[in-house]
Amino acid sequence: MINLTFKNRYLALGEGFYEKIKPTPVAKPELIKFNHELAVDFGLPANGMDESFLAGVFSGNLIHESSEPLAMAYAGHQFGHFNPQLGDGRAIYLGELDCADGGSLDIQLKGSGRTRYSRNGDGRAALGPVLREYLVSEAMHKLHVPTTRALAAVTTGEQVARERLLPGGVITRAAASFIRVGSFQYFASQEDDASVKKLADYVIERNYPEVREAENPCLALFEAVVLRQARLIAQWMHLGFIHGVMNTDNMSIAGETIDYGPCAFMDFYNHGQVYSFIDHQGRYAYSNQPNMGVWNLSRLAEALLPLFAENSDVAVSLAQDILEQYVHRYGNEWLAGFRAKCGLTAAAGVKPEDDKALFESLLDTMAENQADFTLTFYYLSQLNSQADEKDTKLRDLFVNREAMDAWLVRWRQRLAFESMTDAERQASMQSVNPVYIPRNHQIEAVIRAAEDDNDFAPFHALHDVLQNPFQRQQGKDSYLLPPAPDEVVQQTFCGT
Ligand code: AMP
Ligand code: MG
Repeated sequence: MINLTFKNRYLALGEGFYEKIKPTPVAKPELIKFNHELAVDFGLPANGMDESFLAGVFSGNLIHESSEPLAMAYAGHQFGHFNPQLGDGRAIYLGELDCADGGSLDIQLKGSGRTRYSRNGDGRAALGPVLREYLVSEAMHKLHVPTTRALAAVTTGEQVARERLLPGGVITRAAASFIRVGSFQYFASQEDDASVKKLADYVIERNYPEVREAENPCLALFEAVVLRQARLIAQWMHLGFIHGVMNTDNMSIAGETIDYGPCAFMDFYNHGQVYSFIDHQGRYAYSNQPNMGVWNLSRLAEALLPLFAENSDVAVSLAQDILEQYVHRYGNEWLAGFRAKCGLTAAAGVKPEDDKALFESLLDTMAENQADFTLTFYYLSQLNSQADEKDTKLRDLFVNREAMDAWLVRWRQRLAFESMTDAERQASMQSVNPVYIPRNHQIEAVIRAAEDDNDFAPFHALHDVLQNPFQRQQGKDSYLLPPAPDEVVQQTFCGT
């Protein structure tokens, strides 16, 4: 057997927290991709592992002797409506693996069969969403955004019934935690404060050991979670990323991006961009994400209130103070990130509100002129402090080039407050403005080739480019381009 030892501290929380259940075997698992780079972190060899063995392990057909698989219980607000009983309906948790850095990661299969929490679902995943999650989560990691990781993807040799029959897949994910805001809501809605406390203690032990010594550890936990989420959502905004389904069951307590469903990176910039076919009201539109973050965290506060203070008025006021910090932290992170993208720092003599207005005006100009989000910042990263022919590529992204010229005049005036040389500024900007993002139309092409022709070459090629998103790669310019009009993806779908 593979040389691994799963720990399972979650199991010790007790039966109310999960269903012990093994994955349902699949007919003919075949490995699509194994994340060797991540596996080395767990002490696995970098190569030489037998592919059919890996396919068996990461489809759920082979269960390691140290693993005690389970499905986690959770609840959640879905598009604003509370559902008291969700849980891992198509995911199965295998346990924790120790990492080289002294921490550990939780390992979970998704698409591994029915559980007590499956409701009407089949417990399976279609191949398309498996490939999408693999590509996007690994791209996010390389873009330095906290995220669950992809450890393996397999095909199952079975079909799943969706709007039509589709090939099935299983993705293995690694995360700092699979506990969600909705995990706390599950027990709070049953008025089971003891279990809320147990879960909070477990999360502190695993993910926030630094709050253990705080005067009020549960309050300190809440504060730490709030600050991590504020930073995470700001990072999404800096990249034009739209999660698409920020329900409270899809918000990780560890501050990682989790549950890649109808997510998407924007091509042309649009404040209110929505891709998800189920998001009719635009609840999770690009510009609404920071508000939805604080909405979700308010639901977390409600679940944790009894742990903050005995007196409920006191507890509410403590929670409100921390929720206000979210607004400040988010604002600061947003500003710092856009400064970095534009090669600016918190220079002496510059008012933060003036920089904010400068960036908002850039975004407005992009929106009015259908400029590509990623390319705007990438080309901006190449400009000199004096206007010259290098401006052309950037200007050409804008329908009205003069509008961009006007903004560039303001930007260059602002550069006068900075002390970096052009070369230094360009290098610094290029370290935060990616050349490549997983564009929707490319993911779509990957899925089409895999589903229709069993051809995984486009998947591997896109994955490889996204390993170095900040580096222009020779011969890979097709990955940098926005979609042609007939390639534009209007809507994305959940993995269900
Ligand atoms: P999601 O919005 O994809 O995060 O899923 C919301 C809930 O639906 C979770 O409890 C999932 O486990 C469950 N679910 C989604 N798809 C399936 C499926 N195919 N079979 C069973 N449960 C599912
Ligand atoms: Mg989910």
